[in-house]
Amino acid sequence: MNYKTTRMEKTKKIALVAHDNKKQDLLEWAKFNRQSLAKHHLYATGTTGKMIESELDVPVTKLKSGPLGGDQQLGAKISDGEIDILIFFWDPLEPQPHDPDVKALLRIAVVWNIPVACDRASADFIFSSHLMAEEYSWRVPDYSEHTNRSI
Ligand code: PGA
Repeated sequence: MNYKTTRMEKTKKIALVAHDNKKQDLLEWAKFNRQSLAKHHLYATGTTGKMIESELDVPVTKLKSGPLGGDQQLGAKISDGEIDILIFFWDPLEPQPHDPDVKALLRIAVVWNIPVACDRASADFIFSSHLMAEEYSWRVPDYSEHTNRSI
């Protein structure tokens, strides 16, 4: 596999998603990190975004609600290089009607090698990194062999 270098700016594009049973958890975490979150561009699935925007008074680009396509919209943004970091508090104890979309979102984040936090401890580690306040260049797989393959 070949790799190519890509870059995220100092101001990150951060996606926030929480399943219903995890929304309070995300909200508490986001309130604690409000100052830091306010320095970045925030994106979220519909209900999560509404909650963060009203409770933290920070602008959030809100997509469709997760079960209505919001997870897929975020996945498309990751593929297009429009999301740098994914904070996704998914619920490990309750089946979701949009489970395939949840899986797809987590999968595409790994395809494009972006930082992902699925719980508060991981989100704390990402947010306490000095890289949050710096430009960051990193390697992503170069998929041109796949794109240009002859079939
Ligand atoms: P919601 O979607 O923010 O609209 O609740 C989250 C999800 O279930 O993916």
